[in-house]
Amino acid sequence: MRAQVGIIGAGPAGLFLAHLLHAAGIRVVVLEQRSRDYVEGRVRAGVLEQTTVRLMHRLGLGARVSQEGLLHAGTTLCVDGDPFHVDFAELTDGGAVTVYGQSEVMKDLNLAADQRGIRILYDAAEVSPRALETDQPIITWKQDGVSRRLDCDFVVGCDGYHGVSRGCIPASVLETVERIYPFGWLGILSEVPPCNHELIYANHEHGFALASMRSPTRSRCYLQCSLSDSVEQWSDERFWDEFSLRLGTAFTPRITRGPSFEKSIAPLRSFVCKTMRWGRLFLAGDAAHIVPPTGAKGLNLAAADVAVLGDAFAAWYGAGDASGLEDYPRRALDRVWKAERFSWWLTQLTHRFPHMDTFDRHMQVAELSYLRQSRAAQAAFAENYVGLPLDF
Ligand SMILES: Cc1cc2nc3c(=O)[nH]c(=O)nc-3n(C[C@H](O)[C@H](O)[C@H](O)COP(=O)(O)OP(=O)(O)OC[C@H]3O[C@@H](n4cnc5c(N)ncnc54)[C@H](O)[C@@H]3O)c2cc1C
Repeated sequence: MRAQVGIIGAGPAGLFLAHLLHAAGIRVVVLEQRSRDYVEGRVRAGVLEQTTVRLMHRLGLGARVSQEGLLHAGTTLCVDGDPFHVDFAELTDGGAVTVYGQSEVMKDLNLAADQRGIRILYDAAEVSPRALETDQPIITWKQDGVSRRLDCDFVVGCDGYHGVSRGCIPASVLETVERIYPFGWLGILSEVPPCNHELIYANHEHGFALASMRSPTRSRCYLQCSLSDSVEQWSDERFWDEFSLRLGTAFTPRITRGPSFEKSIAPLRSFVCKTMRWGRLFLAGDAAHIVPPTGAKGLNLAAADVAVLGDAFAAWYGAGDASGLEDYPRRALDRVWKAERFSWWLTQLTHRFPHMDTFDRHMQVAELSYLRQSRAAQAAFAENYVGLPLDF
């Protein structure tokens, strides 16, 4: 097989990039190790920045997100049960985020790929990029036990944190930076109406809680938990008791309890691979960086990376202009570090750390009190939350 750009991974980064390149007349093939049902069913992100929604519209994928997405023009923060509201729209000249599940984004991307004839090969085993330091890289894989090969000009690793692409970069040039957090997020999905029309971020002496949603009838709720916890230790009853306690009495009467149909524990980490290009290999999305989910930046960063990379490939194939490809790591990383900073800051502000002493706690409470009272502080929070412009 032959393509101009071979993409590894059919998550948000891989499929947004495939659509961008297809729109620019560039031939792509996407190789994904999982099945389409698995990728579309994965319960993950749910908060889209304005730039991500704009990208969907630019690619002609915006119909359903406009109809079914929930526009959130603000959020609530809660300190030991005492809530205050941050009005994104007023602070950012009409800014907002859209609640729309990652699985819905994936369905939109896949359906449009079917209609446009974009080649996505699911269930590709043993995917292996090779000859990346030459002008003729290849990707080999097995499909139904048969060995296959793709010849291409470039390979883009959109294969997430655990993918194969980043590992192809020699250790001597690979530069990474990491912070592991000493807790996880226990998340549930339940078919009950959310307790608030917008998200609630709660800092309680027991730890962080987040009230989120996927639709007016489906709640997505999280609790900070110990990394040694297992989901079996958290019955639905125990979850709702703790969730109510951390949100406090202002919201307790509005919480509808129901059985969870998904329950999982996710560790939190900040990670940046500064080497986003090596030879003919480019990295995008979670393959290059991870943020803690506080602040909801992961999927949005993946979309921002490929918006930059897509334009760079269009300039290369359209006009032979290599400057965008050369500049991709610098432009992408500039935005990545800002999102890393915001996610780290919001995590620090809202979670209980094992080493925290009374002084640390007072600093947290004082900063939240400042955020409650200062329009300038709220404006900085809102600007980052709704998403920095691509060229910020
Ligand atoms: C619980 C949770 C909640 C989250 N909430 C939010 C949120 O609210 N907002 C937000 O913006 N982000 C959120 N995120 C993060 C977001 O889901 C990710 O940042 C996003 O999925 C990154 O997209 P990606 O395409 O880079 O990587 P992925 O979605 O990980 O896709 C990578 C793809 O590559 C495939 N792959 C891996 N290895 C190979 C291989 N060797 N060969 C072929 N294919 C391979 C994988 O199967 C996968 O389909 C959340 C994540 C989690 C876990």
